[in-house]
Amino acid sequence: MIKGSCACGSVRFEMDRVLSLTHCHCTICRKLTGAAFATYAHVQRGDFRLISGADLMVQYESAPHSFRNFCGRCGSLVPGQAPYLKTISVPAGLLDDDPGVRPKLHVFTASKAAWHCINDDLPKYPKWVPGFEPAPSGPVQS
Ligand SMILES: [Zn+2]
Ligand SMILES: [Zn+2]
Repeated sequence: MIKGSCACGSVRFEMDRVLSLTHCHCTICRKLTGAAFATYAHVQRGDFRLISGADLMVQYESAPHSFRNFCGRCGSLVPGQAPYLKTISVPAGLLDDDPGVRPKLHVFTASKAAWHCINDDLPKYPKWVPGFEPAPSGPVQS
């Protein structure tokens, strides 16, 4: 069991398994986290359980039909699901336990911060990871 929580502890969740970790350098993720990039743990819906904080969560529509969830008390970015993904995206900084997997790739490196140097040999994708793009009629993230 892998547990996670927001900064104030109001939003708590647990997961049976983390499939993968990825670093996203897109402009929205950089701004929402205030960091060089955001790292997400990808979890199957059936492996994810929200324990508390559902009533406190607020949403921001970062792209049409694509909502980001936050703790309404402390402002932490909290788990959510992009409409084009089958998995829940858990901001990895919220994890209180070791997920057992390590980051496997960088995505949206075309919009990475000018002042940030990627110092590893993981695969880098300028935009979407092939096979995980939104449908042509779906939301577009820039
Ligand atoms: Zn909180
Ligand atoms: Zn992103």
